[in-house]
Amino acid sequence: MVVSKGGKEVMEAGRRGSLYYLLAEVQVPMAQVNSVTSDVRLWHMRLGHPAEGSIKELVRKGVVQAQLDKQPLQCEECVLGKSKKLSFPKGKHLSTQPLDYAHSDLWGHAQVNSIGGGKSYMTIIDDFSRKI
Ligand SMILES: [Zn+2]
Repeated sequence: MVVSKGGKEVMEAGRRGSLYYLLAEVQVPMAQVNSVTSDVRLWHMRLGHPAEGSIKELVRKGVVQAQLDKQPLQCEECVLGKSKKLSFPKGKHLSTQPLDYAHSDLWGHAQVNSIGGGKSYMTIIDDFSRKI
């Protein structure tokens, strides 16, 4: 069986009983890595950002061939990944009755509409009763 698209043959398939199988060659992707000219930073990125000492140990054991730098490894991704966000300070609200103070949050646009067709959601929380 030959499958054609726009008058051009694109695939050929054989048939065994009720099952069709594709007649094609499988191409195996290949990559070539030159490890002799690589430096520590490149190996740091290749190995998933390990500590610099780990890479130096691999170089010392001969597993990785790289030229060691005298300067410490500086990786922006590692610095950003280890940074933390500061939490919001706790608010002091002295609400003495319902609706003295309300917290609200607006979220949207949702990829899926709500049953009523809405794309955004708003929550309002009463500070005194904590009712939503
Ligand atoms: Zn890194």
